[in-house]
This record gives sequence, structure tokens and C-alpha cells, in this order.
Amino acid sequence: MERCLIAWFHEIALKGKNRRYFEGALRENVKKALTGIPHRSVARLSGRMVVDLSEAADLEKVQRRMSRVFGLAGFAIGWRAVPDLDKIEEQLWQLVRERDFESFKIRSRRTPRSLPFPSTLVNNRLGDFIRKKSGKRVQLDDPDLTCSVEFVQDQAFLYLDRHPGPGGLPARTSGRVVTLLSGGIDSPVAAYKMMKRGCRAIFVHFHSYPHTSLASQEKVRKLVRILNRYQYYSTLYMVPFADCQRRIVAFSPPDCRVVLYRRVMLRIADHIAWRKRAAGLVTGDSLGQVASQTLDNLAVISTVSKRPVLRPLVGDDKEEIIALARRIGTYETSILPDQDCCTLFVPKHPVIRARASHIEKIEAPLQVEEMVQQAVGQAQLERFGN
Ligand code: ATP
Ligand code: MG
Repeated sequence: MERCLIAWFHEIALKGKNRRYFEGALRENVKKALTGIPHRSVARLSGRMVVDLSEAADLEKVQRRMSRVFGLAGFAIGWRAVPDLDKIEEQLWQLVRERDFESFKIRSRRTPRSLPFPSTLVNNRLGDFIRKKSGKRVQLDDPDLTCSVEFVQDQAFLYLDRHPGPGGLPARTSGRVVTLLSGGIDSPVAAYKMMKRGCRAIFVHFHSYPHTSLASQEKVRKLVRILNRYQYYSTLYMVPFADCQRRIVAFSPPDCRVVLYRRVMLRIADHIAWRKRAAGLVTGDSLGQVASQTLDNLAVISTVSKRPVLRPLVGDDKEEIIALARRIGTYETSILPDQDCCTLFVPKHPVIRARASHIEKIEAPLQVEEMVQQAVGQAQLERFGN
């Protein structure tokens, strides 16, 4: 029997006229996810995607990769079957006999005109056959084993395990966002959430080398590599921030510095967004988590950007963020020790209620436009492929 992968679409089924566009993008993404895995074809078939896998395909790898393809509701690694019930009985028995189970059910589905008889008839017939062969009992509610049979047009598929997909919208179908990526726990999760909604994330990291270590930059690259598994191609702007910080420190009272750093960071990110035609910025801020993330401070920080500043974690608790970080694979890297430029030259108790007029007065002599131009000019662009 030939191995194949069957994948089901998520919300895109709802997308009306855009449906073809989303399905096409999803198919491209499935192809990218299968890079290096021997397979013959990736076909669209009545709301599904079917991939014929070669003998040599590493199935665990297929499963791992598919679980990261946004837009998939679920997938199964199964077999192609001949659409003939006599043959399917035998094929199914060959698969089932290798499994350890006490109860089972048959779950068959068909697209219109694929079969001349209803699914219930298929269920009854295959159920009887397997019951007699195996001596095990049929149990419709929560059985040990579910044997699925799908008749789609003139083709048929068998599978025993169905895996959940990540949901969301296909990567890179919603436009670009510039994501401010620190080495911490939150911003990689924020990037993930936007990528899951179909955004292509362009990463920007600010470092204060030589005040911060090269290892901290390496950590950010490692995070980008992990996140890149969800979008297959990524760019990272490494922006030197030491000069900006030095100037801010020279002209400002310590308690305002975090807000000033952030305002300059956002302006730089906004400039990169303009260049890369990205429609928004993304940060990992969560309301009230630290002093710089009070509503007042976020408001004073956001105003410097011409583009909307998206904060997908704004209402999340730390525990929720950590749970998601673990799930997407960034947590272990995020908790490695690093040096963050934002903790340089700032007091333990920064302002929690920044006022725009006050901050603007302090900023006036800083010549921020020049700072932004200089930082953008010095930024190093790094690319990450599939
Ligand atoms: P994180 O866990 O993402 O570091 P945090 O809880 O430490 O966030 P802050 O340090 O206040 O919070 O940073 C808030 C947000 O500002 C980050 O989530 C990130 O989007 C952005 N940011 C902070 N520092 C940097 C940096 N060095 N480079 C790029 N973005 C940064
Ligand atoms: Mg941080």
C-alpha cells in the first residue's frame, strides 16, 4: 500500500472568494515544510491536500513539520486504497492487525458522487469484517482505535491516527509586520501569534555591543531559527543601539530612560517597516507586567510610530505566555542567560506614568531623527532560509 499524507484546511474554508488564494498559499507552504522529505506530489482534492510520500520518507519528521503548518486543521499519515470495498476490507485488516486495541470504530466519509452507497453501509460492513477477524468489540464512543476511510472523488484513503494542526491562516497571506525581538520569553511568542494569523514577521533586534555580549545576539539568531520553522524564510535586522543609549543617558533623568529607549526603538522599527512595506509593528508587551508596560507608558511609546503597534500578548498572563513558549519551542532558548540593552543605565524604579509633554521636552535636544537614520544605516541584515 502506498503511504500518503492527508491534510485538512482550517478557517480558509470560510474565506469565500479568497479561498483559492489561501489554498494555493497553503499548498506552497506544505511543499516548503516537506523540503528534504522524499515525496512525489502535493495535490488539492476537495478541501483536502494529499501528498504521496516515498518509501524513504521519515514519518516522524513529516508529523513534526506538518504540526507547524498554519492553516491546517488536522492531518493524518495514512495509505492510498483502491476504492473497492472488498479490497478495502483486506487492506484495513492488514493495518489493524498490527495494533493493540480492545475496542474500535469505523469512521467513513465520502464526497458526493464518490460512492454509490451511503457511509453508514460502509461503516457497518467494515465494522463487521474487522470485528469477526479481530474478535474485538465495536464501540462508537471513545474507542481505542478509530479506523478512518475517506472516499474522495474517484480515490480512497485509509488512516488510523489523526493529528491536530496548528490552525490559523497560512503563513505569509496577511501581509508583513516588523517584530521587535528581544532575547526574552515574550516577544518570540508575540511573533508566533502574528505569524499564526498569516503575517510574515520581519525581525528587528537592538543590541548594545560591546556593553552586551555577542552571545546575546547569538541567542536571538537561535530564536529566529526556531520561529523560521513556521514561515520558512526570515530576515533579521541587528541594530546597534549603544550610541543611542549613550546619547539618551547623557541627556535624560534615569527614571525616564526606558520609555525613551523604547520610543527610539519604535521609530527605528517604523523606519524599517516603511522600507520593507510592512503595515504594522509587533512587540511582546503584556499590560502591567513590568513598569514600562503600564497603559500610560505604552500610550506614550506608541505615538511615535506611524504604523499601528500590535501587542498580541497585551491581555495574557505570564503563565499563559510561558505555556505557549514551551509549546512552540522557544522557551528553552529564551531562558538562557543574556544581557538586555534595556536594563543598561536604568534605575530599579522607572516612571510608571509617563506624560507625553514631559517626555517630548526631554527628547527635544536629542536629535532623535539623526539617531534613527544612523542606527538604520548601521543595521546588519541577516537571512534565514528553510
Ligand atoms: P521580552 O520577554 O519579549 O523580552 P519583556 O517582558 O522583557 O519582553 P520588555 O523588556 O519591557 O519586556 O520589552 C517589551 C518589548 O519591547 C519586547 O517584548 C520586545 O518586543 C521589545 N524589545 C525590548 N527589548 C528589545 C530589544 N533589545 N530588541 C528588540 N526588541 C526589544
Ligand atoms: Mg526583555
